[in-house]
Amino acid sequence: MFAELHVERGRLRAILPCSIGTIIRTETDTYEYPGCHVLPGFVDNHAHIVGLGERLLVVSLHHAISEDDCVEKLRMAGPQPNGWIRAMGWNQEQWPNAQWPSIARLDAAFPTTPVSASRVDGHAMWVNSAALKAAGIDAHGHSGLLIDDDMAPVFAAIPPRTNDDLRSMILAATSLCASMGITEIHDMDVAEPWLDPFRELAEQGALPVRVQSFVRAHSDEWRIAGQLPAIGEFVRLAGVKYYADGALGSRGALLRAPYHDDVSTSGLELLSVEEMFRKANEAIEAGWPCIAIHAIGDAAVRNVLDAYELIRSTPNGADVILRIEHAQHVHPDDVQRMARLGVIACVQPSHCMSDAAMAERRLGPERLSWAYRWRSLLDAGVHLGAGSDFPIESPDVLAGIAAFIKRTPTGSMDAWQGQECITTKEAILAYTLWAHRTTGMDYRRGRLEVGYDADVVVLDRDLETSTADEIASTTVMATFVAGKRRYTS
Ligand SMILES: [Zn+2]
Repeated sequence: MFAELHVERGRLRAILPCSIGTIIRTETDTYEYPGCHVLPGFVDNHAHIVGLGERLLVVSLHHAISEDDCVEKLRMAGPQPNGWIRAMGWNQEQWPNAQWPSIARLDAAFPTTPVSASRVDGHAMWVNSAALKAAGIDAHGHSGLLIDDDMAPVFAAIPPRTNDDLRSMILAATSLCASMGITEIHDMDVAEPWLDPFRELAEQGALPVRVQSFVRAHSDEWRIAGQLPAIGEFVRLAGVKYYADGALGSRGALLRAPYHDDVSTSGLELLSVEEMFRKANEAIEAGWPCIAIHAIGDAAVRNVLDAYELIRSTPNGADVILRIEHAQHVHPDDVQRMARLGVIACVQPSHCMSDAAMAERRLGPERLSWAYRWRSLLDAGVHLGAGSDFPIESPDVLAGIAAFIKRTPTGSMDAWQGQECITTKEAILAYTLWAHRTTGMDYRRGRLEVGYDADVVVLDRDLETSTADEIASTTVMATFVAGKRRYTS
């Protein structure tokens, strides 16, 4: 929509009609965007900020075309402050003769600086003699290639991140998000040592987006560290995060019936119903307002709903926010139940785009229609919130909205399980107002209304009247958080 927004002390003070585009007036500045449209700022309601920061700071070898090209990219990047050169993403399948990389080539280029470069799948690592030495491994005659568990001594030898490292990683990740129109991130699996860098950046006014932290809780980390929920304008400790099962790709997602492509397994149960109930109940007793449990397989989703049903019957559990992260495979019997219990599905449309072909192999044809549900959940009255799960996927919200409405997997032209597509309006809500509902902040964020936080995104197109392809190629012109411009194109 076109509008003239007046901002006072970070909130929307007036919203006036505007015929030429978007105008934003703050106490000190006026910003004019002729022909541009304004929307409430986007929320990524499931992501990993430090993970993305790490991805941005280590050298990317994803597009390297040879071993020599890798070495050149490593040389250009140089060592991190901790003295190591770290990289990820190489794939010898894309190189001439698919030749594995050699320790000799790395040693020649980096005789003293330790280098560790992970393969694209994370299951192999290419290192030089300096890295082996630092890890206490005999380099004599070594190939420089480490597989799976053999990588552990190298990881252990890399000096731990300092607060300075963490601050630069957080800034790199959140700045990238601001450039994509994101004004708030729900940060999952937050470890205790990361909180100080987040708080310092927030206090300095340097954090470009708001962060709702969901702290690690699976092994009771929050209780051991003595963490409690905390209110803050830019960083809020909002919830605790658990895992009911693993992931579909590695056959860790817990299914009610065995995997179609490996009948010997039905996946992994990481917490029982009783454990989830007890842990969530303890968190609620300690005052945590939001519970988030990762559940991908249909059996894991059912287990979480069983635990949440028990939570709802407790005196303090009636009105807490209960989220299922991913909710990728929901049995038809559980759809209505999710709505009845007021459990929110926190979904990632980009996962559906990347996983469709793999999901078909894992699940087989009979239960495919239960996978990556969006339309059927909304029709049943289930609340939906959207995120990207970056750095596993890109934080690009516009691509996420296009995925919601089109559902065409990567490399395909046709909608996959197209009956689960949702409308453009719903997709925008899933990334704005509905996403704020998943931390209970929808009473002051997610709408262009007087009194709401001045968290907005300015776009060069009206998403609601655009096709999915147009949405995916829309430009973010500016991002404002609390009335302050945090990104400009
Ligand atoms: Zn995640």
